[in-house]
Amino acid sequence: MTTTTEPLDTLRGAVRGTVVTRGDPSYDVSRRVYNALHDRRPAVVVHAVDAADVSAAVRYAREHALPLAVRGGSHSVAGFGTVDDGLVVDLSRMRGVRVDPEARTARAAGGATWGDFNHATHAFGLATTGGVVSTTGVGGLTLGGGMGHLARRSGLSCDNLVAADVVTAEGTLVACDAERHPDLFWALRGGGGNFGVAVSLAYRLQPVSDVFGGLSCYPLDGDVARAWARLIADSPEELNSILVIALGPEEPFLPERWHGRPICAAFTCFSGPETEDGKVLARLDGLGPVVGRFMERMPYPVINTLFDEQLPPGLRHYWKGRFSRELSDGAIDVHMEFGGTMPSMESDTAIFPIDGACHRVGPEETAFAYRDAVFSHSIGATWTDPADSEHDIAWTRAYDEALRPHTQEGGYVNFMDADDQDRTRGNYRQNWDRLRTVKRRYDPDNVFRLNQNIVP
Ligand code: FAD
Repeated sequence: MTTTTEPLDTLRGAVRGTVVTRGDPSYDVSRRVYNALHDRRPAVVVHAVDAADVSAAVRYAREHALPLAVRGGSHSVAGFGTVDDGLVVDLSRMRGVRVDPEARTARAAGGATWGDFNHATHAFGLATTGGVVSTTGVGGLTLGGGMGHLARRSGLSCDNLVAADVVTAEGTLVACDAERHPDLFWALRGGGGNFGVAVSLAYRLQPVSDVFGGLSCYPLDGDVARAWARLIADSPEELNSILVIALGPEEPFLPERWHGRPICAAFTCFSGPETEDGKVLARLDGLGPVVGRFMERMPYPVINTLFDEQLPPGLRHYWKGRFSRELSDGAIDVHMEFGGTMPSMESDTAIFPIDGACHRVGPEETAFAYRDAVFSHSIGATWTDPADSEHDIAWTRAYDEALRPHTQEGGYVNFMDADDQDRTRGNYRQNWDRLRTVKRRYDPDNVFRLNQNIVP
């Protein structure tokens, strides 16, 4: 045994999961992340199975001055789930979800996906706000805020978080909630992965079982976007609708002449009573000429899988995020202009409504600062050929820049890319100073810095 392998042997001895290094047969699989743009070569990947493993990995990274990346569902478009020459703590083997139907709560292990979560809670007719693609991680999505089909009626994912167990930068395990370590619990709800590794997260649940949902497609037209914004303003909170601007999908419900042509689509989820479904359809008919539609009653977990196949791992992605209080004519003009030049079938703009219950939480009650924002815009270019990277990244940046004058200073940290670090302060606005205080307390050396970083 040589001295260079000794520390790794110690790490291997300390964890029950797997420690993968360069040269191991599984190294290439272990180092891969969802966004193929980030082809990095970590020194060590620890596939943790419990909090003790996570603690050992964090301590090891610190002792050996290795940059540390934390990976749950692996969906970070910015590539924060991997790092060259550093240590990756991979949580994807920690996916259990324990549901307490009587208390209407569920506790998910830190590497669970929304697919895992929805499967577990749906069996008992319960749900909470989660991501609209089932392969996204519960951890990364919640810590940044969490927008999804139930947001208008139930708030952001982070608003439904009631407790978390966190492995801190010291490698210690801290249980936090409204009473214990309330400062950490506050910061976790919107502050991203800055404060430690959440090895489990507990949520409040609501009775939600079947929903009426799917896609209604219209020509790309500013009037459709304007009508959609009015729909959000006038509809009950059980009606959630995400405005998607994309190229028409090659799906049976859309006539062929619309395949590959720019469209607006209302990605709708109605979680109210079935007797009201007809009214929802009538409202969607009112948005403009419907060119294709897929809407039906389905179990809540199903609506969160509709786009899974279209977004497999291994594509290249580059995103930007912005908040706005209204969908102004100026913003709509920008969306229509760039919507007409979408670079690929997988690229899209998605405008999530974050009013209703999201606004019933105060702007300083959690770290998520933009309780006055009504819309969260994500602009995402997606492509396969590396030769397209320069064009598609430049397209996204130009789109984002054009949208800037029509939106607020900040945006959603989970929709931003790695080159948005200079926007972090604006993303947290009035909560910035308090977040830095919590960061100084729990991670003064900035061990957790691969994120939209709150520099201590
Ligand atoms: P990872 O890459 O595993 O993690 C991202 C970062 O989050 C990590 O680097 C780390 O800093 C932190 N992190 C993750 N898990 C933990 C943990 N347990 N403890 C501490 N830190 C952790 N967002 C929405 O709000 N709503 C959506 O509907 C939505 N849909 C999406 C669909 C797709 C296809 C993609 C790619 C992204 C989507 N997002 C959505 C954005 C998503 O919220 C972020 O990409 C989020 O960071 C993903 O979390 P993850 O755990 O999958 O990613």
